[in-house]
Amino acid sequence: MARKGQEITIAGGGVAGLAVACALARQGMPVSLFERAPEITEVGAGLQISPNGMRVIEALGLGDALRGASLAASAVTLRDGTTGHAVLRLDLAGVPVGYRLIHRARLIEILETQAREAGVQIILGTPRAPGGVRAGGLEIGADGWRSAYRAALNGREVPFFTGQVAWRALIPDEAPPEVEVFMGPGRHLVSYPLPGGLRNIVAVEERSAWAEEGWAHEDDPGALRAAFSRFGGPVGDWLARVDRVHLWGLFRHPVAPRWQNGEIAILGDAAHPTLPFLAQGANLALEDAWVLAACLARAPQAEALARYQALRRDRAARVVAAASANARNYHLRPPLNRLAYTALRLAGQIAPGAALKRFDWLYGYDATRESE
Ligand SMILES: Cc1cc2nc3c(=O)[nH]c(=O)nc-3n(C[C@H](O)[C@H](O)[C@H](O)COP(=O)(O)OP(=O)(O)OC[C@H]3O[C@@H](n4cnc5c(N)ncnc54)[C@H](O)[C@@H]3O)c2cc1C
Repeated sequence: MARKGQEITIAGGGVAGLAVACALARQGMPVSLFERAPEITEVGAGLQISPNGMRVIEALGLGDALRGASLAASAVTLRDGTTGHAVLRLDLAGVPVGYRLIHRARLIEILETQAREAGVQIILGTPRAPGGVRAGGLEIGADGWRSAYRAALNGREVPFFTGQVAWRALIPDEAPPEVEVFMGPGRHLVSYPLPGGLRNIVAVEERSAWAEEGWAHEDDPGALRAAFSRFGGPVGDWLARVDRVHLWGLFRHPVAPRWQNGEIAILGDAAHPTLPFLAQGANLALEDAWVLAACLARAPQAEALARYQALRRDRAARVVAAASANARNYHLRPPLNRLAYTALRLAGQIAPGAALKRFDWLYGYDATRESE
């Protein structure tokens, strides 16, 4: 039910905010988007866009642009971190709609260009607070993990430190487009190539000392090398080439109980920040964006927002829970890790396609149908 003339304001120009702006503008809805950063810059590093996210990208008409700016991942391989030997390989070559590896800045650029072309008014350097919209208007909080809109709907909540920190780094490298996960006691490292001769590295370590949450805290590359000094395969060589690294503390935030109140709605990290262990932050944001816009196109606002929350909350909670569980699986200690690796190797040999099938619920989800 397109509302020509109705005011829609979005706070936040990340993946969620820009994607929902594109989806709404395609339906002819007038949209203003406020981003507090003075410019949309080269922040962040690699993102994995899995088939569930790609379906939304395709539906937004951005499939070709995204393919041109990303690599097609051929496989996800789990490896024993100490030896570097493969434990399980998930072959992604034939997955429907593809599984892509992209720099966050490129995805943001593609969404921003589309939003501007579709007539979205983008106002940079301007933070937005809940409550500034005229009666009958709609405010969308896409303002990330410290969301003021989430707080307006749910009150203040206190996230807790998971006892894990993560480093992220980019190094120059040319290699086949495979996602590799090196698992070790109390730590793991995920790496994959990006276009432009880059390699993305995210390394997670369990520790009791608290580290700050956020994307912009620099750390000493020596600390990363020391934490992974026992890892084999190519890891030592990669880490020797890291000259700049960011560190962030991993916090658990519950999925927001309330996503809307008839006048305000939240999406993306504002509604459900997730740990990075399933690479679903950006994909969930894309799914939310499509479903929110589709619900608004089909029903009066209050009904549409209620339906949006009903369609999305359980899905997001399931994905966030699965990401949290992955930390335990990746960080097993001896002798459990040996048993688990042997079981995974055997399973991979007996039924090579079965491991990927276990992710059907995640990658097979089609947000563009869900909302029909
Ligand atoms: C700087 C940065 C770097 C990142 N790098 C990576 C990465 O390398 N790998 C990875 O997997 N994920 C990364 N992420 C997270 C990933 O982008 C998100 O988990 C996912 O895409 C969901 O996006 P989102 O739009 O909900 O939130 P975000 O990407 O966090 O975007 C929220 C946006 O809202 C803006 N904002 C916040 N408050 C206000 C306000 N009051 N008014 C207006 N604007 C506001 C922020 O500046 C930000 O641009 C990064 C996020 C950020 C912000």
